[in-house]
Amino acid sequence: MREYGGKLILLHKKSYVIIGLIIVAFFSSPKSTSADNANITADHVNVRSGPGTQFAPIGQANTNDQYPILDIKDNWIKIEFKGSNGWIIADYVNISGQPVNLKSPSSKRLTIPFDNTQIRSGPSIAFEIITFANRGETFNVISQTTNWIEVSNGEYTGFLNKALVQKSKSHNEAGHFRFKNKNIVLDAGHGGHDVGAIGATGTYEKDFAYFTTLKLKNELSILGANVLLTRPNDEFISLKSRASYANISDADVFISIHYNSFPRQQNVKGIETYYYHEQNQALAQAIQEGIIQATNAEDRGTSFGDFYVLRQNFKPAVLVELGFISNQNTEKQLQTSFYQKRLVNGIINGLRKHFANQ
Ligand SMILES: [Zn+2]
Repeated sequence: MREYGGKLILLHKKSYVIIGLIIVAFFSSPKSTSADNANITADHVNVRSGPGTQFAPIGQANTNDQYPILDIKDNWIKIEFKGSNGWIIADYVNISGQPVNLKSPSSKRLTIPFDNTQIRSGPSIAFEIITFANRGETFNVISQTTNWIEVSNGEYTGFLNKALVQKSKSHNEAGHFRFKNKNIVLDAGHGGHDVGAIGATGTYEKDFAYFTTLKLKNELSILGANVLLTRPNDEFISLKSRASYANISDADVFISIHYNSFPRQQNVKGIETYYYHEQNQALAQAIQEGIIQATNAEDRGTSFGDFYVLRQNFKPAVLVELGFISNQNTEKQLQTSFYQKRLVNGIINGLRKHFANQ
């Protein structure tokens, strides 16, 4: 990750940008500029051999370090550095006590349009995902290739695929609008004396399914959907009742939520989505893809599944198996609300796509 950029911090006040520009551009002669010091405002900022991230780092600067300024080019500042000289990105530098951002066409901000946008350590999907950015987060754009954008914020520098952020804000709002007045039946698997699968440390599938269902209900409600639960509590509900509940409701979609188990091979992991009626295959596909993109979990794909709640269901219905609780790592991960949020966002992204295609 450091190969591609320094550790950087965000600028807070746009007004300082203007002030900084005026000071540097108009009131400072080249001589007085060169007398200014660059005060570093972040740790581990790469100092490079040239003005751009394509130049190799020759060292790092840290908070409160001061270096005489030799030159300024676009968003890069040339400094005297350890008996030689190097270039440092302006975003993490104060000059004369003022944060400076030398706005140029190459200096841009990017706002993430969707939750769970993958940020990778390099410009290809072969690089690992270093984090997931959420909708509304903003980044400085460091560089761009045909398909990738190098971005940075206070915590990390990484690459995101342009396809993940090219959808416009209006598209996003339209996606939001798509949930309005939609009736979504959520079916938390098992319940009561039927605990479902048993996890690596004795946890119950019914509890995970219920937890995810409530979280999903909450998020969908915020988006304007009417959410109905086949099992509003920890109680036993027959499969027949679950299916009829969907059939008598005006459901646009029915999602049955389950977790898997394969105790004999505890390393088995991954997520899969089932459909019964062929016309629901696309719905299953959209939801599966949404979840895999959001979680980066192993993709076990979509399959025909002869489950009662799908077979006897006359509404668009799918059943998701959101992970193997017999796998100790998965079981642990599923107990974090961070990961649960990813699962829920993935399902929502899948639904958004499904409703968009209707
Ligand atoms: Zn189950």
